[in-house]
Amino acid sequence: MLFATLNGVKVEANPKAQGTCLLCDQPVFPKCGEINVWHWAHYKDKNCDYWYEPETEWHKNWKLVFGKENCEIVISKDGCKHIADVLTNDDLIIELQNSPIQIDVIREREDFYGERMLWIINGKHFKNNFSIFKSRLDEDIKYFRFYDPLSAEFGKVDNSPKNEFNFTWSWCRKSWSNVQRNVFIDFGDEYLFWVKEGMGTNSGKGNQVMKKFFLNKYGGDLELLATLIDGSKDTIKRLKTYEK
Ligand SMILES: [Zn+2]
Repeated sequence: MLFATLNGVKVEANPKAQGTCLLCDQPVFPKCGEINVWHWAHYKDKNCDYWYEPETEWHKNWKLVFGKENCEIVISKDGCKHIADVLTNDDLIIELQNSPIQIDVIREREDFYGERMLWIINGKHFKNNFSIFKSRLDEDIKYFRFYDPLSAEFGKVDNSPKNEFNFTWSWCRKSWSNVQRNVFIDFGDEYLFWVKEGMGTNSGKGNQVMKKFFLNKYGGDLELLATLIDGSKDTIKRLKTYEK
């Protein structure tokens, strides 16, 4: 967790800070190393929320874009309590997922938070297995089938809607195949890839949503937009492909 409470105020971890857990009210201690994001940890090394995943820079950036008052929010329902990553002012829950997740945990989280929820998944770990392309023709060009007049697809016109993209996903994360809420994949560039069909499978469809529009819609701080975008050459290359 990025935040703990001290005298009713949410506080970030720093080496001298003290605080209690937002969820279980137990004392927590600041972990402020050089490698991991500064965060709060429970004594006895046991987190009280079993949906918790280790805090990363990626989590932190997304949470802070929505601000201290809208991230790490305790949600109570049917005698259970969990910490939602983000709760917007419009009561939408945004759950951030960095690591692979089991199918039953996806279902539990969706059941608990209900329909006003969406997922943002960190796609950087699998972006080399995930290709986004505009149409069959793009794919043909990639595999040189376009130049083969004997190919059944040769010369076909691209009639797909402007912002509709196809994807192929090798070694896909199958646990997502039954997801019920909207999924946005973050590959670290200016866009989120909003999966419309085929999440967790080898192929499907989606839209590119600019992060700035996403933040605008859900109340994120546009001044922090750059913290969500990597500046690597690889990113620039991907962007060029999208903008064709
Ligand atoms: Zn706790």
